[in-house]
Amino acid sequence: MYLVFLGAPGAGKGTQATRVCEKYNIPHISTGDILRANIKAGTPLGVEAKGYIDKGLLVPDEVVIGLVKDRLAQEDCKQGFLLDGFPRTLEQAKALNGFARITNAVNIEVDEELVVKRIAGRRMCKCGESYHISWYNSDVCAKCGSKLYQRDDDKEQTVKARLDVYKKQTAPLIEYYAQTGVLSNVDGAQEMQKVFEDIVRVIDDND
Ligand code: ADP
Ligand code: ADP
Ligand code: ZN
Repeated sequence: MYLVFLGAPGAGKGTQATRVCEKYNIPHISTGDILRANIKAGTPLGVEAKGYIDKGLLVPDEVVIGLVKDRLAQEDCKQGFLLDGFPRTLEQAKALNGFARITNAVNIEVDEELVVKRIAGRRMCKCGESYHISWYNSDVCAKCGSKLYQRDDDKEQTVKARLDVYKKQTAPLIEYYAQTGVLSNVDGAQEMQKVFEDIVRVIDDND
């Protein structure tokens, strides 16, 4: 299975991706996580990416396309993978089409009001797990024990820019994948376990 998750920032892609990848034993490839790891390590890629991420803008297509292409060429991606946060533009989707055959694009649908609430209360761990202040009241990760933090780009002033970018540049991918016949929509406003069950159902139906 060669999966793509679509959905606005805060829709729950990362949360569900972790669980889906555990279930099917496939690698979880989050371009956001890869970029943040590079920022933390101070690599040239991280330095370049930070300028865009801090403004709520997308990192240039050629940068992320190269990154994903290299990652998908690795051995552990041969039997399947889940892309979370990529593609985010039509250019990225077309490039991806040149080096992978996507079997399912799962669009996690959440309206803007809820997405804003989810982003505002999100707390992240460097292992990739995310939590929300409405249901998690510790400041350390239940999975790895690291201290949780709020992403700089989750603060109010950047969120609006990210949502605008999503609407203009990423939402058109829903139509793109609908046309290739691999799109499924899942109601992301439900509780986590329900969303997970719906995702599993659409993936299994497709196989
Ligand atoms: P979210 O989970 O809120 O959707 P991500 O962690 O996926 O956010 O991405 C955080 C930021 O990293 C984005 O706002 C963007 O600047 C950058 N980024 C991540 N993936 C991509 C991509 N595929 N193309 C361009 N920029 C990206
Ligand atoms: P994305 O990767 O799409 O940006 P996340 O998976 O990081 O989104 O989720 C955004 C926030 O919403 C996090 O704080 C997460 O804990 C919370 N969240 C995700 N899914 C649900 C859900 N079904 N119900 C309630 N909160 C959720
Ligand atoms: Zn952790």
